[in-house]
Amino acid sequence: MPYQKFLDAYGEIHDLRMTASVLHWDQQTQMPPGGGEARGRQLSTLGGLIHDRMTSAEFLGLLADAEGADLDDDQRAAVETVRFAVDRATKLPGSMVREMTLVESRAFGAWIEARQARDFSIFQPHLERIIELTRQKADCFGWKDTPWNALVPDYERGIDARRIASLFAPLRSFTVDLLDKIRGADQISTRFLDRQWDLGAQGEFGRRLIGDLGFDYSRGRIDIAAHPFCTNFSVGDVRITSRFDHRNPFEYLFSALHETGHALYEQGFRPEDERTPLAECPSLGLHESQSRFWEVTIARSLPFWKHYGPIMAGYFPGNLAGVDAGTLYRAANRVEPGLIRVDADEVTYNLHIMIRFDLELALLERRLEVADLPDAWNAAYKDFLGVTVPHDGDGCLQDVHWSSGAFGYFPTYTLGNIYGAMMTRRMEKDMPDLWDKVGRGDFAAVLEWLRTRIHRVGMRSLAMPLVEEIAGEKLTVEPLMGQLGRKFTDIYNL
Ligand code: ZN
Repeated sequence: MPYQKFLDAYGEIHDLRMTASVLHWDQQTQMPPGGGEARGRQLSTLGGLIHDRMTSAEFLGLLADAEGADLDDDQRAAVETVRFAVDRATKLPGSMVREMTLVESRAFGAWIEARQARDFSIFQPHLERIIELTRQKADCFGWKDTPWNALVPDYERGIDARRIASLFAPLRSFTVDLLDKIRGADQISTRFLDRQWDLGAQGEFGRRLIGDLGFDYSRGRIDIAAHPFCTNFSVGDVRITSRFDHRNPFEYLFSALHETGHALYEQGFRPEDERTPLAECPSLGLHESQSRFWEVTIARSLPFWKHYGPIMAGYFPGNLAGVDAGTLYRAANRVEPGLIRVDADEVTYNLHIMIRFDLELALLERRLEVADLPDAWNAAYKDFLGVTVPHDGDGCLQDVHWSSGAFGYFPTYTLGNIYGAMMTRRMEKDMPDLWDKVGRGDFAAVLEWLRTRIHRVGMRSLAMPLVEEIAGEKLTVEPLMGQLGRKFTDIYNL
């Protein structure tokens, strides 16, 4: 049967990819520094094998046979998913892929060095080469309006720069306006946070919360890593990481809950879809909508803290004596325009994304020279956030994305917030007692709502049509603005 033959061949490619994920996870969490070079070789060998298999005449033949067969809807979706990936891969000449890999691995090293030295000039020639190659890559894919449009489908299909800009424009003026009002209000003190927080207790409280949200420890685990992430090797094995800060318990907590949101998605694929193209997420924006939903919408809500404030105090009796739930809630939601995207609060976060979107468009369209990036970056931070960038390490060198050629990636973070708010509005209609449930630490129905509508769908639908169907409305930034407006008007008494 052609479909089964195709699926068997795909399964082997999938196994190779998951094996690479195990090596990558180990590299980030366990591996001693001495293993670095060999691990790089092992990953590169596996990457080459995966690419060769995926674009081999044999696999393309099996794919074509499957496409010609009589397929049901699920099988059709699986075949189309692979066709999209294969077409992207085969449009790029092998020589370009190899050069890209080499340039990116050197650029990554230069980026680390430049960031530490706070010296953009170390990274500049590498970024220039990356942008040149990325433009060539866009030309291979073919594009309309802007080369950026050729790159974004690797992360989010069915959207283009114009659509993103039309969502970002109203969100920007809304956010700047809200931020102005917050600046004029009484500020939130987080002084009670600034003390030693026992790492053992942080880990235990975190594990308890993650379990309460629905993370299945028999099908996953949590470890420590410098950069929090989530990865999966199968539906039965999903790994998350977080990092500790001795003087801020929220760092571990919210990083872990963010990654838990990603993990709940991956533990939620249908077991019978395992090792098929259906047990995947159709977009980064949709994946991010899940992490932000749990981290921000749920875990930074007042009902959540009314329930978990006293429980947290049990883990940190010395630190939280006399600190009430409202204080914890306000501290978890303090707004402060800053330099660093990953530390940004819920209100200013999207401004960081808009800055990167504008700049990467300008770089790819050659309206901005790489040499002028630091100045343009610093001017944008002044303009959007009112902050002065002291050095490039906290400025245009802070993110890893461009060093790996990931242009088109950044807007998916804000799309995740937009999708999440659209879903939440719908969830509140479907489940009038949603916030009562959260206030009791009961998340089973919330998780089940997400499982049936999103997680179990896997690759059966692209992200945007799925969200629009669930929400019952076209893609809109209005629910996100409503959510932010209500919450922060209340917190800051605006
Ligand atoms: Zn995320």
